[in-house]
Amino acid sequence: MRRCTGSSNKELVSRLCAEKVITSDRVKQTMLEVDRQYYTSRSPYVDSPQGIGYAVTISAPHMHAFALSNLEKHLRPGNSVLDVGSGSGYLTACMAKMVTPGGRATGIDHIPELVQKAKNNIVNGNPELFEEGCLELVVGDGRKGYPKNGPYDAIHVGAAAPDTPSSLISQLAPGGRLIVPVGPQGSNQVMMQYDKLPSGEVSSSKLMGVIYVPLTDAKAQWPSAGLTNNK
Ligand code: SAH
Repeated sequence: MRRCTGSSNKELVSRLCAEKVITSDRVKQTMLEVDRQYYTSRSPYVDSPQGIGYAVTISAPHMHAFALSNLEKHLRPGNSVLDVGSGSGYLTACMAKMVTPGGRATGIDHIPELVQKAKNNIVNGNPELFEEGCLELVVGDGRKGYPKNGPYDAIHVGAAAPDTPSSLISQLAPGGRLIVPVGPQGSNQVMMQYDKLPSGEVSSSKLMGVIYVPLTDAKAQWPSAGLTNNK
């Protein structure tokens, strides 16, 4: 799906709006302020995923727009939110924008080099986020979440879990929402939504069929992970 491709970030966002992928002013404003060119050097305004090295991709703009729209009510100023598989840092930056002031977005990725790359991207594209202290990027196995900064009002997972991600669900705050692709590598994945009700009960729903790279072991994804950069 490339129907929303533009020749600038502004044009990309206005096409996403024209196609009703974005219907909220907050999501529109956020994606205008987080210019994709700082997060991928390859065809940043084409509406498709792009390789960012380390055997992974930055998701397509329409999927970023979908995720932010779905989570919008859980991305309020003051909220604590988690982006698992932060990759380029693009979506973590958007989430940080939406929880400012007073909130914090944590991005976690298991490839140290990618975390460093995401930091550089944000320093170039949205340095205000580090100045405001509303964003933290950490290296770790995102399948376990990141309990230290939880519980979370919203959790986004940018890679597919093989089955129900119980430890992430347990890190949701009451009223919180998790969206995560669930299914086997390369096929039959479903974008799942888990809502933790104020009672603590969890409801789930299937949003749509998707194809994401798998949540995996760092060495399985990139055998030399961590050898060139340990920051
Ligand atoms: N939302 C990101 C998606 C990047 S692709 C973006 O649009 O840029 C998925 C990411 O998940 C990759 O960066 C990959 O390194 C990461 N990943 C895969 N398995 C992981 C795991 N077990 N723990 C943390 N990150 C993981």
